[in-house]
Amino acid sequence: MNSIERTLAVIEHRKPDRLPVDLHNFQPAAAMLGLPLQKVFKDGDLLAESQLAAWREFGHDVLILESGTSSSAEACGVEVIYRDDAAPVATKPVLERLEDVDKLELRDPWTTFPWSEILKATQIVVREIGNKAFIIGRGDQGPFSLALMLRGYENFMIDIAMDKKPDLIDQLLDYCCKTATRFAMAQLEAGAHATSIGESPSGPDVLSPRHYHKWAFPHQKRMIDAFKAQGKLIAHHICGNTVPILEDFIATGAQITEIDHKTDLAKAAVAAQGKTTILGPIDTHLLAFGTPAEVDTACREAIAIMRAGKDFHTGFILGPGCALDANTPPDNIRALVEAAKKYGMNS
Ligand SMILES: [Zn+2]
Repeated sequence: MNSIERTLAVIEHRKPDRLPVDLHNFQPAAAMLGLPLQKVFKDGDLLAESQLAAWREFGHDVLILESGTSSSAEACGVEVIYRDDAAPVATKPVLERLEDVDKLELRDPWTTFPWSEILKATQIVVREIGNKAFIIGRGDQGPFSLALMLRGYENFMIDIAMDKKPDLIDQLLDYCCKTATRFAMAQLEAGAHATSIGESPSGPDVLSPRHYHKWAFPHQKRMIDAFKAQGKLIAHHICGNTVPILEDFIATGAQITEIDHKTDLAKAAVAAQGKTTILGPIDTHLLAFGTPAEVDTACREAIAIMRAGKDFHTGFILGPGCALDANTPPDNIRALVEAAKKYGMNS
């Protein structure tokens, strides 16, 4: 099997020759070029070059293509600061009043920065290695994360807690759902095998399970349903401890569910069985600061937990639980990629 066949097998809960391995590595990949990271994140050609360089070095099965967690917010007018050593961050929201949601316009992913550069990168990577590696063109952010950035973190949390303008909150989430869908669809038009949304601020570390169910879940599900209706693949990422919302999280229906080490993997494995393929969950802090032996152990344990109760390894893509730090040592990344081959083989 090649990387694409192997990845599709686990997504469809069939038997692969071995478990596939992904790298969520836009930061260390950009660092490999030896340029200030912001130069790479603003330029589709460099972004593609960084992903190709990392793939040639590590030979992972699944690439996750993105330039940070504020690209859609920036495309919608949020002020973003680019940095030389890490991903860009959103600084100034666009919605001072919830009532201004009427003024938000839907943008064209192909002509709006930075989406246009990310799509260019996806097209280049697909052209170069799209027949050898499985490419997830990330559609960050999902509806809830995007709403949080457009309205401002604290403002939106207060809107939800006060619950005085539910129609306007819904209208904002609806706009964000449409925007996220447009960009994620464009990633697939660019040739990516799958797309994904990041919705970490909707997890229990930030939002109560009750509010998750009321505000985040319906829009996530609606968005994911739209992709599934067209036979398209989408991953759903929430980091932190997702156990309190695990049932809802999986019921959003994404074919791939991305979790980190804070979610009890055994519980996730049981909840996911036959319904979704788990991606993750190796601790990015361990990957940045641990040793290759420690990474190897964490991977071996995760693979064993995900194997439990099954006749063969499937339903699992081994990888970092979230985005790798820019300074993650190459030897630790190598240990992660090799662990899938050492411990994830099917006989
Ligand atoms: Zn995350």
